[in-house]
Amino acid sequence: MQTMRAMLLDAPHTPLHLVELPVPAPAAGQVLLKVSACGVCHTDLHILDGELTEPKLPLVLGHQIVGTVVQSGPAAHRFQVGERVGVPWLGATDGTCRYCLRGQENLCDHPTFTGYHTDGGFAGYALADERFCFNLPASYTDVEVAPLLCAGLIGYRTYRMVGENVETLGIYGFGAAAHIVTQVAKHAGKRVFAFTRPGDTDAQAFAIRQGADWAGDSTRMPPEKLDAALIFASVGPLVVSALQATHKGGVVVCGGIHMSDIPSFPYSLLWEERVIRSVANLTRRDGEEFLALAPQVPVKTEVKVFPLEQAGQALYQLRHGQFTGAAVLDINLT
Ligand SMILES: [Zn+2]
Ligand SMILES: [Zn+2]
Repeated sequence: MQTMRAMLLDAPHTPLHLVELPVPAPAAGQVLLKVSACGVCHTDLHILDGELTEPKLPLVLGHQIVGTVVQSGPAAHRFQVGERVGVPWLGATDGTCRYCLRGQENLCDHPTFTGYHTDGGFAGYALADERFCFNLPASYTDVEVAPLLCAGLIGYRTYRMVGENVETLGIYGFGAAAHIVTQVAKHAGKRVFAFTRPGDTDAQAFAIRQGADWAGDSTRMPPEKLDAALIFASVGPLVVSALQATHKGGVVVCGGIHMSDIPSFPYSLLWEERVIRSVANLTRRDGEEFLALAPQVPVKTEVKVFPLEQAGQALYQLRHGQFTGAAVLDINLT
């Protein structure tokens, strides 16, 4: 029996540990991928911390998987052996619920999320439903393209929710998603204002390097009022800060899967048609649009690379904001 290395989570609040697991066999409609890189995401921290309450256990995390097809299961014909594909958070849907039927598969009643309901990419091999895999733009290396699969996709969906009439865009929480979205927004001619944890001058300098017009502490007001704000940090009070910074009719979009409570605030902050909304998951259409757009911008990802065995270290550094850009596991690195 062929085996693979994997970083396994036995239960929330316990460290990942390196194990040898059997290489899984693809079922009908699935492909088996040899994983080359996998992005590390804040959602992985929410799973570790038990804030997302329904993981498969034990679990292999990782939902920004880049790999090559090594085997197709029965009735899987979409890809050839050797093709490079990407696997995102949305691993499968039921295809039959009211949301799927009206083009909102991101809201599916019975979704399968990669690295949550099924084993993900913190491993040598992974299975994926071929219908939910993406072709990847050839101009990126495996490590460079991995963050596009969640930070990029969900960042893009969040950005799109602000609509067309936006000249000034605030971005709260300047990590992997923000550094990608800033490049897309600048490409579209927006003025971008980046907000970081108070005193995080590294992240502020990083935001300016990505093209932001201004960067400062999230407790400050920007030099101009915002037409819209995106919130990528899981900090509820930022919703109130962002509302305070927006023009009449401004939109505040929360891009994360989990957030601490939003404090109460006076209605006058919401008055004048300001809007607060969230973004959940992604559709395959988001992925196809964004992966076509990214090489045109061109989006350049800044990655901090870790070997598979250091997945726990990567998560620790992500939690504590110890690097700028996106963390990626390079599975071929030892
Ligand atoms: Zn993610
Ligand atoms: Zn559905």
